[in-house]
Amino acid sequence: MSIQIFGLPVSRGVAIGRAVLVASSRVDVPHHFVDPDLVNEEISRLLDARDVVAHEFEVLKRDLPPDAPSELAALLDVHQMLLQDEALIGATADWITSRHYNAEWALSAQLEVLARQFDEMEDAYLRERKADLEQVVERILRTLGRGAPSVVTSAKDFGGDEPLVLVASDIAPADMLSFKRSVFKGFVTDVGGKTSHTAIVARSMDIPAVVGARQASHLIRQDDCIIIDGDAGLVIVDPSPIVLEEYRFRQRQSELERGRLARLRHTPAVTLDGERIELLANIEMPEDGAAALEAGAVGVGLFRSEFLFMNRGIDNLPDEEEQYMAYRAAVDAMKGLPVTIRTVDIGADKPLDGLSPNELRHESVLNPALGLRAIRWSLSEPSMFRRQLRALLRAAYHGPVKVLIPMLASLHEIRQTLENIAHVQRQLTESGKPFGTVELGAMIEVPAAALTLPVFLRHFDFVSIGTNDLIQYTLAIDRADEAVAHLYDPWHPAVLQLVSTTIKQARAAGRGVSVCGEMAGDPVFTELLLAMGLRSFSMHPSQIASVKQRVLRADTRRLAALLEPVLQSDDPEETCTHLFPAVATPGLAGKTLLSVAA
Ligand code: PEP
Ligand code: MG
Repeated sequence: MSIQIFGLPVSRGVAIGRAVLVASSRVDVPHHFVDPDLVNEEISRLLDARDVVAHEFEVLKRDLPPDAPSELAALLDVHQMLLQDEALIGATADWITSRHYNAEWALSAQLEVLARQFDEMEDAYLRERKADLEQVVERILRTLGRGAPSVVTSAKDFGGDEPLVLVASDIAPADMLSFKRSVFKGFVTDVGGKTSHTAIVARSMDIPAVVGARQASHLIRQDDCIIIDGDAGLVIVDPSPIVLEEYRFRQRQSELERGRLARLRHTPAVTLDGERIELLANIEMPEDGAAALEAGAVGVGLFRSEFLFMNRGIDNLPDEEEQYMAYRAAVDAMKGLPVTIRTVDIGADKPLDGLSPNELRHESVLNPALGLRAIRWSLSEPSMFRRQLRALLRAAYHGPVKVLIPMLASLHEIRQTLENIAHVQRQLTESGKPFGTVELGAMIEVPAAALTLPVFLRHFDFVSIGTNDLIQYTLAIDRADEAVAHLYDPWHPAVLQLVSTTIKQARAAGRGVSVCGEMAGDPVFTELLLAMGLRSFSMHPSQIASVKQRVLRADTRRLAALLEPVLQSDDPEETCTHLFPAVATPGLAGKTLLSVAA
């Protein structure tokens, strides 16, 4: 039976491969590959954890009070039995050996397999043993979590010859990072919106992805053959031979198209009327600089520095020296081109160690997107913030660095930020450490900042519009929530007004202005942004060629004359489609239907 699952198309192209399921678990588990040489060590980690849990059960049973109900002892026996069952531990060890999963991933994958078997059992008593199995696995996972973690490897070639695609309920940003440059040819997740960080990282890896595919991780089984249609937001499980052939053909076509676009790499981005357009790269790690140069970027417009912080515990955040080395590596990689580094944007869907900054302080948080996030967290942790600023200024000694501050909304935050910068400049001068001057920029991603832009233009050298958050906060739509993803609308007139007036005012004040949200890399918006006067776009390296193609065909004078009707329109998307015929219809974007076909 072939199944079709619809979600949100977030990263274009077609992937065909064998499904690798990352099971969701109540315990936050790391997922990564282990080096083939360390497989035996990883199995020992698993067996040691099993033995620790077995001992815990023995102690629990021994210490049961004499009047404890006899069911309790029986239950502990069941747990002990499950723990020793080869179907659990032996099969988990097989996952480690055959797939090189780390022990936690292997164990949760095996739990998924066994849980399905329990679900299908006729006998109600046996079916209920699934809960016991989950408890046992949870204990082993927690024990593994307390011990030394396994060694992470980038795992370039563990998949054999067959392409693999990753299917999960959700993928934590930290896991996503360890999957970066790994074997996977595509991603499918049950949750997430178009600008959730899973989607952003998938785009940065330039591999097809569908998010918000609701039931995908339940309907898809380990090793199923699946097609990911990243243009339509469609996942086809177990396709018929005809469908498979059709998609293989489309895959070849899109590879040819990519090859054609790659030829534009060294063509300067200049419009028909001679306007030079700056196409910059968004990166997550210093080593992404190579891909940026390869794609023809003329600099980095957004280095999301929080990715250096994310897969570490609060007690193990990168110190000044480690950050300095990372920023300097990005500067060196870009060979004299400017590198815009954003100070940490931790919070919302980019937690530290699975916890938002509020939660790290043991404060409950109902809505992390409105909580202690980005610059708010930095200002509340001055020594952490100053460590980062010192590292940034020191890296600026080696090449042009611009520092970008996320999520600013008010003058007092601007003042505090500037005071911190002045403070670290004094510190560095006193210590005699060499440092450079930086241009300072503010992200415009909160409506309050866009509406009070002159304040920002007085204090900053440039502004960069973060449309992902600007849309989220203008429309009150959680960008990571697939239940409201159909309401997340870059075409909303309020959003376009804010983007347009920000560009206009910044240009009038002689300040640099760029867009670094996902709108900048979507060719559907290229003409409109040019019409608004934008001359600097920052996007994933993989998107540069498609946007450049639009730039090369554009005439900014003609486009500028068409802007007003779009901004005055009740339905800017429709107006734009008439005025700029090159604007493509976004296909099935927003559709979250689940259709199961026989
Ligand atoms: C944005 O909000 O548009 C942006 C670029 O920042 P991030 O996606 O990292 O929040
Ligand atoms: Mg943002």
